[in-house]
Amino acid sequence: MSFLSLGLAPELATAASLQAWLAPTPIQSAVVPLVLRGADVRACAQTGSGKTGAFALPLLQRWQEQGERVLVLVPTRELAMQVADTFVQLASALSRKPKVRAVYGGASVNAQMQDLRGVVDVLVATPGRLLDLIGKNAVRAATFSTLVLDEADRLLDLGFSAELAAILDLLPAHRQSLLFSATFPPAVNLLAQGLLREPACIEIASAPETRPQIRQRAINVDTARRTALLLQLLADAGDARALVFAASKQGCEQLARELSAAGAPAAPFHGELSQGRRNQVLDGFKAGKLRVLVATDLAGRGIDIDGLPLVVNYDLPRSPVDYTHRIGRTARAGLSGTAISLIGTGCEAHFRLIENRLSMRVPREQIAGFEPVAVPLAVANTGGVKGARMSKKDKLRAAAAAAAESDDPGNGQ
Ligand code: AMP
Repeated sequence: MSFLSLGLAPELATAASLQAWLAPTPIQSAVVPLVLRGADVRACAQTGSGKTGAFALPLLQRWQEQGERVLVLVPTRELAMQVADTFVQLASALSRKPKVRAVYGGASVNAQMQDLRGVVDVLVATPGRLLDLIGKNAVRAATFSTLVLDEADRLLDLGFSAELAAILDLLPAHRQSLLFSATFPPAVNLLAQGLLREPACIEIASAPETRPQIRQRAINVDTARRTALLLQLLADAGDARALVFAASKQGCEQLARELSAAGAPAAPFHGELSQGRRNQVLDGFKAGKLRVLVATDLAGRGIDIDGLPLVVNYDLPRSPVDYTHRIGRTARAGLSGTAISLIGTGCEAHFRLIENRLSMRVPREQIAGFEPVAVPLAVANTGGVKGARMSKKDKLRAAAAAAAESDDPGNGQ
């Protein structure tokens, strides 16, 4: 299968090959011909599957041939920048270039207003900022005849449903709409029903457990010794860069400080950093000046770094969806990668629940010198796992373990 055989014009096939995309990914093979035909599409796709190319390539062609302007709604600033960047990169091979802009909160609205003067062909936006700009007459929603909702589940998770409804009202009724989402809980299905006309539905199986290129590991360790173990794992990984997830902003800050002090240059990456600082951190990480990025779920969500070999769950994610998204930051586009979950004191039951929900099992490991000595919570503590009820003694142990955890600022679980 080649990009040309999907119906893409030679210029766009060249654009893909200039990105070193040798052949279409499965989602691209499925979605590109549908979008070129003008169909509405509902696609279940994980990040890392090549979904941005799946809509950017054919939409650039439709813009070129039919002047269809594109509005892409995304949940985060990072994703807005990345998606716009993909459009710009792909368009660099075109003889006529579209005007591509990204707008998002946390940056000067005036600068964005200036930047939007004239006709914008591809606008990538977070919903709140887009509405602000529409309110200031800096964007005319009616000029966009194509709408893409990217990471629709996350858009709803972040509470953007009212903004989405307001934006949908302002778009032309006659338009092409595409919806991409990693998961389809009822709220996303409802959104899709209201948005899409007779959509083609595409599902590409790439749940983490079916992506063999991600090696998943789970290590039992005392909560208080996770940082020391992490340092050892980083040392074992040689020069590899790592994305480490912590549960809270404070946890990110503290862990990044500790890692840096121990000789692993690290920076926190969370929602309370200014946009400028986030860009700076991301650039430093991409350039290899920083070895470790310590991120919260929300901030880490949009991070797209080629060749990122290692993701570590320092704090476990709250939900299976977050687990899937976190580990999906590695092993992107066919490369392999490792995702390590540190299972601190009392967190075994929580990780077991994540495994159950994802129908998978990750073998538990202990690392020599880091064997847990604190008493873990009994597995029987979870409602969903078969076993005896907790004894009074277990409950006391659990309370002690929980107290030990809450003393650890890195842990917000
Ligand atoms: P996405 O799923 O859009 O976040 O893309 C994930 C990564 O896959 C990005 O780094 C893209 O550059 C890369 N990618 C997209 N399409 C292809 C392809 N056909 N071949 C190889 N890499 C690709």
